[in-house]
Amino acid sequence: MNKFIARLEKHKMKNFPMLIIAIAFVIFIIMIIGFLNQNDEDSSTIYVTEDAELRTGPSAAYPEIKSIDKGQHFHKIGKTGKWIEVVSNNKKEKGWVAGWHTNLDIQADTNPNEKPLKDKTIVLDPGHGGSDQGASSNTSKKSTEKVYTLKTAKELKSLLEKEGAKVKMTREVDEYVTLDDRNIKGDAYISIHNDSLKSSKANGSTVYWFKDNQKALAETLSASLQKKALLTNKGARQENFQVLRQTNVPAVLLELGYISNPTDEDMITDQLHRQILEKAVVDGLRAYFSQ
Ligand SMILES: [Zn+2]
Repeated sequence: MNKFIARLEKHKMKNFPMLIIAIAFVIFIIMIIGFLNQNDEDSSTIYVTEDAELRTGPSAAYPEIKSIDKGQHFHKIGKTGKWIEVVSNNKKEKGWVAGWHTNLDIQADTNPNEKPLKDKTIVLDPGHGGSDQGASSNTSKKSTEKVYTLKTAKELKSLLEKEGAKVKMTREVDEYVTLDDRNIKGDAYISIHNDSLKSSKANGSTVYWFKDNQKALAETLSASLQKKALLTNKGARQENFQVLRQTNVPAVLLELGYISNPTDEDMITDQLHRQILEKAVVDGLRAYFSQ
């Protein structure tokens, strides 16, 4: 047994220089890695490559301390996610800047609100249809509401689908659909109509809502129509319409102009003008679902 231990110790001693070299090599590698890391993470000076904001913390949710200009440079003192903690060279200003506004190779976060309508189900309800022609004009054009509510809905459908929305229609052809059958569920419900009155003077668009959970959508769409459309905007109003009453989803009824008014009729029957209204509705929906 003693012999065995003696032999073992002799063997260990023989390998001692090799062990020292191995340990030294490992320490050297660790130092190299440390040095490279330090260079990457603490490379002191960073430049602001576009006008940005200095914030109190590492996300856009933190309050803004001040705006910072393209070309300004800072000393980098930390990093959390894609945000860089910086201090000005005179040490007076300290805060966080988004990495993508700096010379560092950091890509901006994709904004989840860029496509707020993505995967949202929007129900479009073209008013009237079939034996129910809705309102009609008094001019030689003899325009009927059911034709233009369907055209508007179809055009709106393709715009919404480009935004990633799923669109359901209560009718896709010239057919009669009862009000009960128009009750289809979605994330938002838009019933499309044209107004009419005996007097040819009445004109403009109105956005109707009935239940409390419909008011915000109505006001958002009304504001968007006000901004874009050429029709006079009569605002968002509360009215007890069956299509609004019978659903629990945010729903509105759009009266997009008076078909009984010759000027409005021209706009209703003009595809370019309809497109302006439809884009206003898409903008309004985007704003509504971004909130
Ligand atoms: Zn109608």
